[in-house]
Amino acid sequence: MALIVKKFGGSSVGSTEKIMNVAKRVISEKKPEDQIVMVVSAMGDTTDDLIDLAKKINKDPYRYEREMDMLLTTGEQVSIALLTMAFKTLGQKAISLTGPMAGMHTDSTHTKGRIMDITPKRVEEELKKGNIVVVAGFQGADDIGDPVTLGRGGSDTSAVALAGALHADSCEIFTDVDGIYSADPRVEPDARRMKEITYDEMLEMARLGAGVMQPRSVEMGKHMGIPIHVRSTFTNKPGTIIREDYTMEEKDFVIRGVAHDAKVAKVAVLGVPNNPGIARSIFMPLADAHVDVDMIVQSIRNIEKNVTDMVFTIASDDLGRAKEIVDKVANDLNAIAVLVEKDVAKVSIVGAGMLGSPGIAARMFGALADAGINIDVISTSEISISCLVKKADMEKAVNAIHEEFFPKK
Ligand code: ADP
Ligand code: ASP
Ligand code: MG
Repeated sequence: MALIVKKFGGSSVGSTEKIMNVAKRVISEKKPEDQIVMVVSAMGDTTDDLIDLAKKINKDPYRYEREMDMLLTTGEQVSIALLTMAFKTLGQKAISLTGPMAGMHTDSTHTKGRIMDITPKRVEEELKKGNIVVVAGFQGADDIGDPVTLGRGGSDTSAVALAGALHADSCEIFTDVDGIYSADPRVEPDARRMKEITYDEMLEMARLGAGVMQPRSVEMGKHMGIPIHVRSTFTNKPGTIIREDYTMEEKDFVIRGVAHDAKVAKVAVLGVPNNPGIARSIFMPLADAHVDVDMIVQSIRNIEKNVTDMVFTIASDDLGRAKEIVDKVANDLNAIAVLVEKDVAKVSIVGAGMLGSPGIAARMFGALADAGINIDVISTSEISISCLVKKADMEKAVNAIHEEFFPKK
């Protein structure tokens, strides 16, 4: 007997036909003794549509984070109900459960919640009754029972966490691509599918914008030791396994992939005093407001006046809140100005192999230079290098860097 968690993303359940097809496929692949837990996302672009709806009431609806969660959790509730009806229509016993009903307990960080623990008692009981259990992804409830969503792409994390809590035999992420590629196949036509990728590399790819997996889901997989199988909803191709280490020849690549992120914004606080505690006074209130700061550059502006510029990037969704906070701090610090740039994007390379290989950064910068692309800000980690470029140059940058590290055969 195998217990399998299967997650289907928004594009996989984007219409009632697709929902029917998912149900048919799952039933046809299920062995009689298998126990199946489905985790599903909202249909198609539902989450985006709900956000747009909220924006018609207030242009920065994320300031009402609890209500955003109340709104966004409805998307997944539609798909679990419909998918369960599809199973039943096909003669299969099934039941739908919301995230809280499945035991997803989160902290109270609305719209960016973290799973604190899972007690999937109800899921286990329903499996024992012979049901396929269809759980709403992306959602849980906090201590007082309020709905909390797990951040965009959060159904991936729901699935991996549930697989861990249920000690599942496997966790499959079904999506509209047939695995993890060396770059987003929508941007890079020559991207190559990988048979395997390590948690660390996938985590870095995801953190740097490869939206195919939510970063926290990969973290969760690593933490719980759950291999994650990413595969296509629409074909039977083998997909990619995310796991601790390679078992195959793919070790040889120094660079595993190129990631890009268009949802970034640059903030520059110009002319702040160059004294101890200044960085804290800017970044502490941002942290308190749950704004993640990414690339940070501090430069000397004017040695005589002892002032400096602080430049950093954040997720563009956080810009409204961040700007309010930074304007206030800048005012308190007598800064000269706060500048905001939305017209930027981050392009990165990822690979554990780059640790012992000098010259990788130079090759990346060279590829961008040859393509005539200017680099605004650079940042590095042990296994990645990122460059901030103009948004208009982003796709060209991905293509140029990909060609450098994965030349066409
Ligand atoms: P789902 O709705 O199934 O959760 P997502 O849209 O969240 O699907 O993720 C799948 C998309 O991720 C793909 O359509 C692809 O454009 C994008 N993507 C970005 N980077 C990569 C990558 N390196 N490999 C595969 N897909 C990627
Ligand atoms: N529906 C949510 C989103 O669009 C969660 C997910 O799809 O994973 O972000
Ligand atoms: Mg997704």
